[in-house]
Amino acid sequence: MPSSKSVVLTAPRQMSMQEFPIPEIKGESLLLKVEMVAICGSDVHLYEGVGFKASFPKILGHEFVGQVTAMGEKAAEAYELKIGDRVTVEPYIPCRNCRFCLTGNYQNCVKVMTYGVSLTCDVPPYLWGAYGEYIYIAPGSLVYPVGKGVPAEAAALSSVIGNGVRWVKRKGEVGPGDAVVIMGPGAQGLASTIVAREAGAEPLIVLGLGRDSLRLKLAEKFGATETVNVQAQDAKEIVGKKTAGQMADVVIDCTGDPEAFNVGLQLLHPGGRYVMVGLTGGRVTPAIMDHVVRQEIQIRGGLGQAWCVDEAMKIIHSRRYPVESIITHRRPLAEAQEALEFFINPPADCIRVALVP
Ligand SMILES: [Zn+2]
Ligand SMILES: [Zn+2]
Repeated sequence: MPSSKSVVLTAPRQMSMQEFPIPEIKGESLLLKVEMVAICGSDVHLYEGVGFKASFPKILGHEFVGQVTAMGEKAAEAYELKIGDRVTVEPYIPCRNCRFCLTGNYQNCVKVMTYGVSLTCDVPPYLWGAYGEYIYIAPGSLVYPVGKGVPAEAAALSSVIGNGVRWVKRKGEVGPGDAVVIMGPGAQGLASTIVAREAGAEPLIVLGLGRDSLRLKLAEKFGATETVNVQAQDAKEIVGKKTAGQMADVVIDCTGDPEAFNVGLQLLHPGGRYVMVGLTGGRVTPAIMDHVVRQEIQIRGGLGQAWCVDEAMKIIHSRRYPVESIITHRRPLAEAQEALEFFINPPADCIRVALVP
């Protein structure tokens, strides 16, 4: 009987390779042979057993690309796919019935199911995460075809670029000529940089720390007009200079650092939009709220990539940006645990790590 070897998180910081039966693929479901899966920052939280979604046993992995190897009888029509096609899939499986799904906000779906995040592998058909040879794709999933010429690294980041689309365009409402500041040049900040470039941001200023020099260089490749090491340079002065004293229309805060908030607020002009997307892990952010009141700053949260991956796939397929450079390290699936440990405190030359089965 065919089977899939998958890496199971059995307890905090404990993983083992286990063998699962390949499920029967019926209706609108699919089976994918995983080509590559990226390790997301939230995988680390799950691995360490922190956060409300930490549960066991679980096959991690929600940023992936794979090849269709089996299809239910209704899947061809539902997805316009055939066996052998390459696809990437959004992490969320929306219920399509609750008020959030019906208003296009399925990241807040009341029955939210997320590959490799909320679903545990003790529930049939078990293969709910991409840290494995195969992953099961449930009916109602959001599946996107991937062209042959697209590097697996770029396709695996479809939802990361999708986040950028949602945060920059939908939440930040960035349009041509808007002055945009992106704080934190990690994978999400870099994805936001690409999308802000696509949206016509000018200037497009990316802020990082001294250790971020490689990331800031990549931000320039993605279209940043200016990069700033906030430990050596005065971000407020630079943003002022680059905007003729007007300051920024939009700040996208991808830092996850409570300290960054007050810095970011100072970079906006009155009425500017502050899009908060970095999670601080529950740490309290001491905020100068008088500034928010006096300047009528609009603070907006940004979570998932709801209805934005279509646009992300167009950006990826355009090949105008070396999206694949965000994945700096590759490891075999069998070394998933070592790779996660490595990614907890990554060296300066590491942005994202991917696993290859
Ligand atoms: Zn992720
Ligand atoms: Zn729903």
